[in-house]
Amino acid sequence: MTSVLLTGISSLVTNDPRRGTGIAELRDAAVVIEGRTFAWVGSRRDAPPADDAVDLGGRAVVPGFVDSHAHLVFAGDRAEEFAARMTGTPYSAGGIRTTVAATRQATDEQLAANVARLVAEMRRQGTTTVEIKSGYGLTVTDEARALAIAHDVTDETTFLGAHVVAPEYADDPAGYVDLVTGPMLDAAAPHARWVDVFVERGAFDADQARAILSAGKAKGLGLRVHANQLGDGPGVQLACELGAAAADHCTHLTGADVDALASSGVVAGLLPAVEFSTRSPYPDARRLLDAGVTVALASDCNPGSCYSSSMPLCIALAVREMRMTPAEAVWSATAGGAASLRRDDIGRIAPGARADLAVLDAPSYLHLAYRPGVPLVSQTFVAGRPA
Ligand SMILES: [Zn+2]
Repeated sequence: MTSVLLTGISSLVTNDPRRGTGIAELRDAAVVIEGRTFAWVGSRRDAPPADDAVDLGGRAVVPGFVDSHAHLVFAGDRAEEFAARMTGTPYSAGGIRTTVAATRQATDEQLAANVARLVAEMRRQGTTTVEIKSGYGLTVTDEARALAIAHDVTDETTFLGAHVVAPEYADDPAGYVDLVTGPMLDAAAPHARWVDVFVERGAFDADQARAILSAGKAKGLGLRVHANQLGDGPGVQLACELGAAAADHCTHLTGADVDALASSGVVAGLLPAVEFSTRSPYPDARRLLDAGVTVALASDCNPGSCYSSSMPLCIALAVREMRMTPAEAVWSATAGGAASLRRDDIGRIAPGARADLAVLDAPSYLHLAYRPGVPLVSQTFVAGRPA
């Protein structure tokens, strides 16, 4: 197995708990990659020899971003809806049906090409792991094919047949829940690691969501929830009650919701590019962090409420708009995402972890928040290889 020594690292964010809490930063650092994993991490002057050496010329290195929430299997876009929203039309869950119609009409090749394009866009911005949801098919066949397409590019696939009630079932939501928990789940489960429900007015209520999540759990899927995005609701409590890995959005929380997240260990996924793109109030990240809740930052890249794939943008927004420190934001975009996906092999730069990293054209990780909108990622490595 060939080993590569990366040196000339001005600042290295390790997220290695053995090196302290939080991001743990090393100055003038080096790492050795052996095959797909990190073999050694430390100070440049202690670096062991390796087969090859690459001098990064004084750049910062962070763990590859772990984007734990994205909807990439779709066709069409909703730029007109965005433009209307910017002149005052409020966002609602109903716009999803526009994308459902376009997605059903697309060929497998068109959907796969769009996913590949977006994943490549993410790689260029330092994302090394992405979770991809279905949810724009809403038939047995269309949900299964969306997950099969997603599974070709990531292991983190999520069945979201319960995105909204399919248009054919507009007058029979109970019938749609039966479809989702029955034949649709059967067809989706072989391609999915997770099941998710959009718990919101206009989407699914607590009883419907409990039925869908419980059915997914019985099939061996892990649980994720779209919770408390547009208003107070039962999503967070349900996620905590059922032992979900993540409750994502968390924009409108009661004190009881925050307490439940803190005591259950459910990761709160914050998606600030959604609030940016819908001109909505941001979640209260400080309240969650101060209560001891584990926070992940993710893009929620989708054609409706947020058509950005940029984790650096999420970091900048988290710092500027949600008062997270740059260190908290970078941790949440890497180790936080890994926690949300219940993975311990990613989100950190430490011996044994998968060799995923982003090289920044900057002297430290602080520049991710300090230089918003600037393409700072100069190189991305996935499993030890330039991506
Ligand atoms: Zn989402």
